[in-house]
Amino acid sequence: MSNTGSHHLSFFESVNRNFDRAAAHTTIPKGLLEQIKVCNAVYEVTFPVKIGNQYQVIEAYRVQHSHHRLPTKGGIRFSHLVNRDEVMALAALMSYKCALVDVPFGGAKGGVKISPRKYTEAQLEKITRRYTTELIRKNFIGPGLDVPAPDYGTGSREMAWILDTYLTFNHGEIDAAACVTGKPENQSGIRGRTEATGRGVYYGVRQFLSYPEDCKAIGLTPGIAGKTMVIQGLGNVGSYSGMISQEEGDAVVIAVSEIEGTIYSEKGINIDKLVKFRKERGTIIGFPGTKTLPNREDWVSLECDILVPAALENQITTDNAKKVKAKIIAEAANGPVTSEAADILTKKGIVILPDMYLNAGGVTVSYFEWLKNLSHMRFGRMEKRYQENSLRNLVATLERLTGQNLGVKEKDILTHGADEVDLVRSGLEDTMVNAYDQIREIYKRKKGIEDLRSAAFVVALNKISGDYVRLGIFP
Ligand code: NAD
Repeated sequence: MSNTGSHHLSFFESVNRNFDRAAAHTTIPKGLLEQIKVCNAVYEVTFPVKIGNQYQVIEAYRVQHSHHRLPTKGGIRFSHLVNRDEVMALAALMSYKCALVDVPFGGAKGGVKISPRKYTEAQLEKITRRYTTELIRKNFIGPGLDVPAPDYGTGSREMAWILDTYLTFNHGEIDAAACVTGKPENQSGIRGRTEATGRGVYYGVRQFLSYPEDCKAIGLTPGIAGKTMVIQGLGNVGSYSGMISQEEGDAVVIAVSEIEGTIYSEKGINIDKLVKFRKERGTIIGFPGTKTLPNREDWVSLECDILVPAALENQITTDNAKKVKAKIIAEAANGPVTSEAADILTKKGIVILPDMYLNAGGVTVSYFEWLKNLSHMRFGRMEKRYQENSLRNLVATLERLTGQNLGVKEKDILTHGADEVDLVRSGLEDTMVNAYDQIREIYKRKKGIEDLRSAAFVVALNKISGDYVRLGIFP
């Protein structure tokens, strides 16, 4: 039961309910399923910080869900709602996510129970550094042990503090930069990480919409262009999901919901401009060309093609699932649809693109960042010029043979050698396309699998159990 004492399942129970349902479609032995399901290590810590003249006790967690591959990997969340069950659920999702997209890590997650808005930057730095120190003390952080990343309430700024704290305690460790990902680009980060989760959401939705028969089954035409989208949460994931779907896919974002309310415009809302507007004014309300809906929760019941919950878990529950009118729910957040609510939606014929797949772009590019840190070199550094020179020679030869000359712009496009960001996007796109096709394959092939989430679980569970079986279990 949840911490609130209501009849709803807790987040971790909800994840495990989905797990059990999918596990029935595998031949994995019962004991092994149990081992995959449990959290291997749960670290719960309280530590003091001094804020002004006051002492404050902070509650924090780091959960390593699965040690079948190391390091473990997962974001750190700063939120006043953080609790043990939530961090366990998020860590478990990380294991399944990593397996699904072939990122060779176990799953983990961290949480600090604070409301970041209530602290100054200096105070947040203090809390982040102390939390990192607690992780170091217990060997819960390190390039080969456990590698955090950003999540709700944290970003590249916090990751830089974590790195610096780790470096202080591990002076001279050559691979230290790989102890955390999502770092600023000029602090051993990688180009394309900030937008990665949202970009992955775009690739995932686009891939679903690329199969005409699957679109037809829910009354949609193929392709993302012109599809209407409603987004909850204009943070890292929500803003880039919307922006990239708009700019690269020609989707139309008709509504955005944030803490302060929900805005709507039939004609579409420019997300790039909205993000700037919110930064200046501290609210999305009053954005030119939009109207504010009476209730913040109205985003759930809007008529649209794609509903994108990108804020927090448990947003679509048995209480409001019946109101959903979208054709597709794109789970950009982790656990936004409860397991029981999903039953209602699936019965209504609504397709859910599951979190463990759809938001895996973040961990995928985090993996690229980790690899970059271990190789101590920017991707593309060795081959970019070589590629460009080869392409230039090719173009010159073609011009000579045909007697025709290309324009400067055309030539630039044709002879562009891949930069780091080009390679990151290419690797991300490939990962999202392949993972979706693996899920779809199982979904179409295995009788009795009701939804894409169960299919995604089957893919992930088979990969993880394969690791255990091949490695054997010590002693
Ligand atoms: P974020 O802190 O950048 O943004 C979250 C936004 O949601 C904030 O702007 C917040 O004000 C808003 N919000 C909170 N409650 C809301 C409500 N009730 N209604 C409307 N808006 C609300 O966080 P994020 O990094 O974008 O993460 C969002 C979700 O995506 C989380 O579930 C997280 O676990 C998941 N996720 C994040 C990443 C990543 O790389 N950051 C990767 C995978 C999954």
